[in-house]
This record gives sequence, structure tokens and C-alpha cells, in this order.
Amino acid sequence: MKLLLIGLDGVRVDLALPEVVAADEGFAVPDHPADPRFAAAPRDVPRDAPRERGEGTTGRLAPTLSRLAAGGRVVPVWMTPPTDSGPGWASLLTGTTHEENNVWWNEFVGHRLARCPDLLSRVFFADPRARTFAATTWPALVAATGPGPVVHSRPDQQVGGQHQLFAATDFSDGCRSADRQVRTRAAWVLNHEGPDAAFVHLEGPDEAAHRHGSQGPEYRAALTAADEDVRHLVKAVAERFERLGEDWLVAVTTDHGHKPEGGHGEDEVVVRRSFLLVHRIGGPLPAGLREPATLRSHEVSPLLLAAVGVRPGSLVADHPVGQVRDVPSAGPTRDLRHEW
Ligand SMILES: [Zn+2]
Repeated sequence: MKLLLIGLDGVRVDLALPEVVAADEGFAVPDHPADPRFAAAPRDVPRDAPRERGEGTTGRLAPTLSRLAAGGRVVPVWMTPPTDSGPGWASLLTGTTHEENNVWWNEFVGHRLARCPDLLSRVFFADPRARTFAATTWPALVAATGPGPVVHSRPDQQVGGQHQLFAATDFSDGCRSADRQVRTRAAWVLNHEGPDAAFVHLEGPDEAAHRHGSQGPEYRAALTAADEDVRHLVKAVAERFERLGEDWLVAVTTDHGHKPEGGHGEDEVVVRRSFLLVHRIGGPLPAGLREPATLRSHEVSPLLLAAVGVRPGSLVADHPVGQVRDVPSAGPTRDLRHEW
């Protein structure tokens, strides 16, 4: 089974899939507390504040996501603050916690991503014949010259196209034009080359919420535009199922929601609430994807990898692997047994 993971930046799932969120109490309250360092500043909220638009309505902002959900499953995912994009995607894509990958902000300063391979690289490590592809509107996720990257470059595999990376360059219409560029390239590669594992990241909803908040028509339009991008990507792999009989697992997630006025980073429920939508084209969902009631961000990649057949290898060493220890500047002992 091949894997297509679609990352939609900054999606409020309570607006994109309101029926799904209302029907699953796992979406109501975070399943683990936030570190108080990342708590939101107290805000005066009117006691009679109207329900946020979208909640409880039947309007379909995301018809493709709704169709994928109806034929698949949506698992609540709770992000661990800080809910910035860097820590969020680093955790979602590498299956590690903030403490393990040391990504706390979007600057990635001091990150340990080299020892926390992304899920595409894990597919490659499991079978060096694997072909992988990533495309993104946020270059930091893939650019070797940027502050990350989260997706490893693996230049040896880029020779000959075994590992392909694409970062958007057309921001003439902000993230909308960049997303369209990513969508077009990704749909082509998915449709014609069918990589074994792919990650496609789109950022329109995040940009709209930062500019206009997450309650107005601009954000709803951005959700619908991203949903249309998703439709193109699903169409690309669905044709491979129809024509070639290929089995595909399509997954969709987000790195955070958005406050009503726009913005994220702290511990509000509407910001921490994410989701993992899984939909198999070519058969029923694997049993492992039907099990978890809720997930945390670092549990997403391992679950998807297990579903597509990746079994992590192991090194059973009698020393602490990867730990740097310097020899003390005290000189040798002159014990002849140790002199060489
Ligand atoms: Zn983000």
C-alpha cells in the first residue's frame, strides 16, 4: 500500500468537518495538559458570546474532506503546545516529541532533526528501493539551506529522482498561488510516477486566518480552496487505482487550528485541536487505523508507517548510541597497558 499524506496548515477541523467533530467526544477536550509555559494569556470572553460560525451548521466548506471522511475515519489529534508550525510539523512528520527533536519555534534553532528522520525517510530506510516525494508551500520543511529541514534531503536519492523535493516559488498571490503551484506539481508526480510515500503541504488556510481571523468568509473560502487542492491530489492517485490497481492510503492532517481572531502558538482548545483523516483507496482501512480513539502529534507518523508496512529496524548496542562524550583534558595515565 502506498501513502499520500496531505498536510493542511492551520485548519480548524470544527469548521472543516463540523459533523465529525460534533459526533466524537474525543474532539471536545485535549487528552493531555499543556506545559504552563505555553498557556494563552487570559482573555475576557463575553459570557454570552455567540457560537462560532460553522459549529453545528450543515454547510459543507470541505466537500472532499467530507467524502474522504465518510469512506474512511477521522481520529482526533491533540497537539502539544507550543502550537507553532515548526514544532507541529516536526512532531507530526518525524514521530517524535518536542523534547526529542528540540524544535520549539519556527526558527528551528538547535534542532535535532538529523537524528529524527521524517516518515518518507523511514520508508526509505526500511527499503532502499523506495521512491519518495515531498512538496510544500513552506520551504523550511524541505530546504537544505533553510533553518530545518524537517524532511531529510538525502541527496544520493535525489540523483535519478528516487527522492524528489519541491518548494513553492510563486507567491504572487500569497500562499494561494503557491498552493496551486504545489498542487499542480504534486498531482503530476503522484499521477505519473506514483511514489511509494509522499507528503504534500498546503498553507492557504493558515495565511487566511493570520490575515482575517478564522471566523469570516476569507477563512471559509481558504478552507474550500484547500479542499479543492486535496481533490486534485486524491484524483491523481485514484486514477492509479483504477488503471493500475494500486492500493493507496490517503491521510490528511493539520498542525494547529486558529484562534477566532487568528493566530496560534499557545494552548487554546481551538488551536490544539487537530485530526488525522485516513481513507484507503483500494480496500478497507487496515485494522491498526481503526484502533486509536485519540492521538498525539508524535503518534501520527508511526501509525501511518505501520499501516503501509514499515517495520523499524533496531541497533542493539552496549553503549549509549549517538551520545557525544569528550575525553577529559587530563592527559593519558602512562599506564603501559594503555599506551600504543
Ligand atoms: Zn502552521
